[in-house]
Amino acid sequence: MIVILEPNIDKSGAAYRQLRAHLDTLPNIQVREHEEVGAQQTLTELYLVGDTAALPAENIRALPGVERVVRISREYRILGRHKDDSRATSFTYNGVEFSQDNLNIFAGLCAVDTRDHVEAMMRALQQHGLVCTRMGAYKPRTSPYAFQGHGKSCLPYVFELAGKYGIRVIAMEITHESHVEEIDEALRQTGNATGIMLQIGTRNTQNFELLKIVGRQREHPVLLKRGFGITLEESLNAAEYLASEGSRKVVFGLRGMKSHFGDPHRNMVDFSHVPVVKRLTRMPVCVDPSHSVGGRSASPEGILDLFHATAQGIIAGANMVLVDFHPAPALALVDGPQALTLPELPVFLEDVRIVRSAYEQRRTLASAGE
Ligand code: PEP
Ligand code: MN
Repeated sequence: MIVILEPNIDKSGAAYRQLRAHLDTLPNIQVREHEEVGAQQTLTELYLVGDTAALPAENIRALPGVERVVRISREYRILGRHKDDSRATSFTYNGVEFSQDNLNIFAGLCAVDTRDHVEAMMRALQQHGLVCTRMGAYKPRTSPYAFQGHGKSCLPYVFELAGKYGIRVIAMEITHESHVEEIDEALRQTGNATGIMLQIGTRNTQNFELLKIVGRQREHPVLLKRGFGITLEESLNAAEYLASEGSRKVVFGLRGMKSHFGDPHRNMVDFSHVPVVKRLTRMPVCVDPSHSVGGRSASPEGILDLFHATAQGIIAGANMVLVDFHPAPALALVDGPQALTLPELPVFLEDVRIVRSAYEQRRTLASAGE
C-alpha cells in the first residue's frame, strides 16, 4: 500500500508525527519512506510493506497528512501502475522532460573514438535542434581483445563539447559502480556542462548489486535495457530494483531479443512490447533500433530496416529513441556497420516526425471512440 502525503508536509509537525505513530504500531507492517524533491514541491510517500491486505484503505486515508492511498498489486510496487493510481509518469532532468507522453531522440556514437568525431556528431545534433545524445565510454564487449572504450580519459572532452553544443543529456553505459564516480568527477571538473543518463546494458540487466548501487544515487536518470535472454517480467523486476533503492527516474529500453529467429537482424525486434510496458508500469519506454536490427539493409522501396524498426517503435508510442550515428562509420571502433551517417540525420528526423504525428492521430482516434 502506498500512502501519498500532502505536498511539502512538515516532518516535524504534529500531523506527520501522529500519522507515523499510528502506522509504526501496525502489526506485521513495515513503513518505508520515500521523498522526492521537485522544483515546486517535495512529495513524501510511505510504503507499507507486509500484511496490508486486511488494512482498510479508508481508515488510512482518514489519518492526518494523508492525501491519497493506493493499494498496490504485488508486482512492480513502485514503478508499476496500480488500480486508481494517478502518480506521475514523467520526470524532468537537466531541463529535458521524460514522460510516457512525449518523445526524445538520442542519436549519437555507439562508442566515443576520437574528439573530432564527438565534435562532428554534436555539431550536427545542434544544427538539427537536438539536445540529447548517446556516447559510450565504457563498452561491454564480447571479446576481451576488442576495444573496450576510452573510459574516463574521454569524459572531459565529451562533456566540454556537450556544453559547447547545447547537449543537455548524454546516455552513457556504465558497467561498474566506479564509473558513476568517474562521471560525477568529470562533470564537476567541467562545471556540470551537461547531464548524464546512466545506461545499464542488456548484459547487466540482472546484475543486482550494480542495480542496487545505481539505484541509491538519485541525481542521474537511468536507462535500463531489457535483458536479451530473460522474460519481460524479469527485466521489469530489474527496473524495480533501481526504484526500491530510491532511484525513480527510470526509463525502460527495448533493444531486441537474442534469438536465431531474428536472423538476418542482429536481434528479434520486440517493439510491439512498447504499449505493454506502458500499461504495466509508469516508466517512459525507449527503443533502440540500432542494436535490434544491427545493419544497414534496406527494403525494395529504399527504406532502411533501421528506419522501419524506429517507426515501429514510435507508432507504438515509444518515448525515447536511442540510435547509433557516426560521422565516418568505416572508422568507428564499435558497431560501424549499423551506424547511420550525418547526412541521414535530417531524413531520419523527418521520418520520426511523420510517424510520431501518425501515432498522435491514432491516439486521438482511439479517444474519440471511447
Ligand atoms: C549500447 O547501447 O551500446 C549497447 C551495448 O546496448 P545493449 O546493452 O542493448 O547491447
Ligand atoms: Mn553498440
